[in-house]
Amino acid sequence: MAIYNNSPEVQTLFSAPVKVKEGKNGLLLYIHIPFCKQKCNYCSFFSQVVSAKYYTLYIDTLCKEISLWGERLERPLVETIFFGGGTPSLLDLGQMERILTQISYSFSLATKKEISMEVNPESAQNKMYYRGLHSLGINRISFGVQTFSASMLQVLGRLHTVEQVVHAYESARSAGYNNISIDLMMGLPGQKLRDWLYDIDQVFTLNPEHVSAYGLTIEKDTPFEKMLEHGKIIMPKEREQSQMFLHGIQRLEEYGYIQYEISNFAKIGKHCQHNSGYWAGRDYLGLGASAVSTIGKRRFRAPSDIGAYATAVENNTIGENFEILTKEAQDKEWAMLHMRTVKGLSLLEYEKRMGKKLLEEKDKFIQGLYGKNFIRVINKHLCLTKKGMLVSNSIIESLFF
Ligand code: SF4
Repeated sequence: MAIYNNSPEVQTLFSAPVKVKEGKNGLLLYIHIPFCKQKCNYCSFFSQVVSAKYYTLYIDTLCKEISLWGERLERPLVETIFFGGGTPSLLDLGQMERILTQISYSFSLATKKEISMEVNPESAQNKMYYRGLHSLGINRISFGVQTFSASMLQVLGRLHTVEQVVHAYESARSAGYNNISIDLMMGLPGQKLRDWLYDIDQVFTLNPEHVSAYGLTIEKDTPFEKMLEHGKIIMPKEREQSQMFLHGIQRLEEYGYIQYEISNFAKIGKHCQHNSGYWAGRDYLGLGASAVSTIGKRRFRAPSDIGAYATAVENNTIGENFEILTKEAQDKEWAMLHMRTVKGLSLLEYEKRMGKKLLEEKDKFIQGLYGKNFIRVINKHLCLTKKGMLVSNSIIESLFF
């Protein structure tokens, strides 16, 4: 378990130079753009609906923060950059250029780097915009599509139409993008298996390189929470959701998308390097309001309030309230993240890190899971079967916590 520690001893530790983990891998950089045109009914991410004039002020702060971390970390190597939000595509090309220029001043960029950007289809229809992004070095676009059902898009509170998805996608393609991802959501209110498979079929007609498919969860303090309470939306039954997950994987695989993590599928060589870095337990630096970072043993989160974030950057106190992850917490997290991947957890690596053999330590429990076809050992890796992925959280929890 991670221990939050804000003691003077830890504060002293912070004032020592922060070193990125040694190794051949560079840092993963995440940039949070916390603005949206409208809040979706299910959203619990930190994003605000504000006038566009605030974007410039936010970017001023963000550039200061980039510069500050560049100095603190002594201009470390960055291998992937991910612009997430919120809606990064609300920023214009000049604003994106400012951020990227500051990043290239403050960090060393790997020659072969992945730079992804989340795009909401309605906010970026124009081919010239994608051409501009491409020439700035952004080489991967991730479209927040969620569904191809017009009525469901309205229920979700999304602003785009199905036609805008197709148009944005084609604009990006014709601007030269050969690495495009589409985000879908399953288990939507009133959704049936056939609706979900229709969404996957529509993805295939577009033919992106990557698909993310997350199950909808009803988060606290969202409009969906109230709508569910008042019977205004009805969620699919658990059995239906399981069917969607299993048949969805099968359909995606038939279309040539290889599952590499519970919710992620890609054509050969097109997996998301940034997210794969998280699952491999690499260091990441999150910049912007509410962004989370893990550098070595330290984990910290920027304030989820734009004013407080700006103050922390101005006062050079950003990242000061960090928690120290114990070795045990880091090891457990590492094991847990690997179990989410299709490749699974290396049993040899586990033994090296923990000093014990997992198959012996959890002998009876693992045998039980094996008998129920929830897990398998393949190439000395413990991995979840597709059936096991349906109950991944409880299996992982019981294995490591
Ligand atoms: S676009 Fe994304 S971040 Fe913005 S409100 Fe919708 S789900 Fe949330």
